[in-house]
Amino acid sequence: MAKKKIISLEGAVKTDAGLTYKGVIMDPIDDKCEGCERVAEVEGGKYCPTYAQPTTKWAKGICNFATHARAGVDKGGKVKVNPLKASKRAARGR
Ligand code: SF4
Repeated sequence: MAKKKIISLEGAVKTDAGLTYKGVIMDPIDDKCEGCERVAEVEGGKYCPTYAQPTTKWAKGICNFATHARAGVDKGGKVKVNPLKASKRAARGR
């Protein structure tokens, strides 16, 4: 597959409900997104042009579009988040 161009959030509009882009409310990025090349800054906030709800994306495991982290798969077939991320997450009580 061709390398997908990293898109911007040009044309996103800040409203009372949050940042909207093409009619979708964009949630700010999750802490785990820090370092990902896809993060786009709009009006002082950081958003993901790939996922409107980055936190939901990470809740299921590692984000498969993250440019700064890669999921490893252990022998049991479980996806492992790298140890640093896992300990950070544990510290935040998740
Ligand atoms: S692609 Fe994934 S890791 Fe990167 S900013 Fe979006 S949700 Fe976060």
